[in-house]
Amino acid sequence: MALNGLASIAERCYKITQSYLEIKEPPTAIIAETQDAIKLTKKYLLQEIFDRWSPLGREISLSYNGGKDCQVLLLIYLACLHEYCSQNMPGQPLPVKRLNAVFIDQAETFTTLEQFVEETKERYSLSLYESERGTNKNISMAQAFDKYLTDNPETKAIVVGIRHTDPFAQHLKPIQRTDDGWPDFLRLQPILHWKLAQVWSFLLYSGEPICGIYSVGFTSLGDISHTLPNSHLRISNSPSLRFQWEIEHSFSGDQTVHCSALCGDDVHLQNHEYLPGWYLVDDTLERCGRNKR
Ligand code: ATP
Repeated sequence: MALNGLASIAERCYKITQSYLEIKEPPTAIIAETQDAIKLTKKYLLQEIFDRWSPLGREISLSYNGGKDCQVLLLIYLACLHEYCSQNMPGQPLPVKRLNAVFIDQAETFTTLEQFVEETKERYSLSLYESERGTNKNISMAQAFDKYLTDNPETKAIVVGIRHTDPFAQHLKPIQRTDDGWPDFLRLQPILHWKLAQVWSFLLYSGEPICGIYSVGFTSLGDISHTLPNSHLRISNSPSLRFQWEIEHSFSGDQTVHCSALCGDDVHLQNHEYLPGWYLVDDTLERCGRNKR
């Protein structure tokens, strides 16, 4: 039976995740810790989230902006979708063709990131709602999600790739209602416990394409006017690569980090001063390239 695009990428993500979990006698402490992080995320998704909201219906949506955290989450979500279907409907074709997802294009975003979102929307079979592109970027995140829910009233819960080390995220829980001032929905946050090093370890091992902005010294992506390369990645600071093993043994088998091409004005970000984003593993320094407004 030929697999539809979603079934086929879900199976690939399952194989990537399994292969990572099966790394025997993990060569680094980061890999062992990442294996534990993946297991906990899988538990949240398979035992708590998919039990309450079917991943085959329209109740769950993924918030996706092409950043590294939501990409890790998407890979594991797809892996769990494959596992859920294998357990609950073995041998049957996947009844959905695309996953509901939402991208709030509210800030001045890097062209390369927008292009990456377009490319990965196809790669990961997302039915991506893109808010207000090019017209009204001044509305708040909460207003944008309100509009999304008005246009997609069947959505009950949104999966978010936020981590405890992100601003104001220290006390968040894996499943919780939105705060006052936000439209009412459940936030599903299954990678809260992930550390920066774990994100890079899994992403680099996956061999999946990642957004090219990370290749030129950026570690976290905000809007263009408030995001700079991370000064801790200056070559003169000699940061060292902690993920040699992951790159050499990557699932894609070609020992390469696949970054999307820089495009538009972002081409000028190419430089010889900064090492790529994955040379940084200290969570407390992750947002050093993101200036306050
Ligand atoms: P990075 O920190 O490298 O930018 P990221 O964008 O995945 O990676 P955050 O910026 O910390 O992570 O955002 C946390 C999560 O919030 C994202 O993973 C995503 O799920 C959600 N999110 C953030 N911005 C948007 C957006 N503009 N549209 C949709 N979801 C978003």
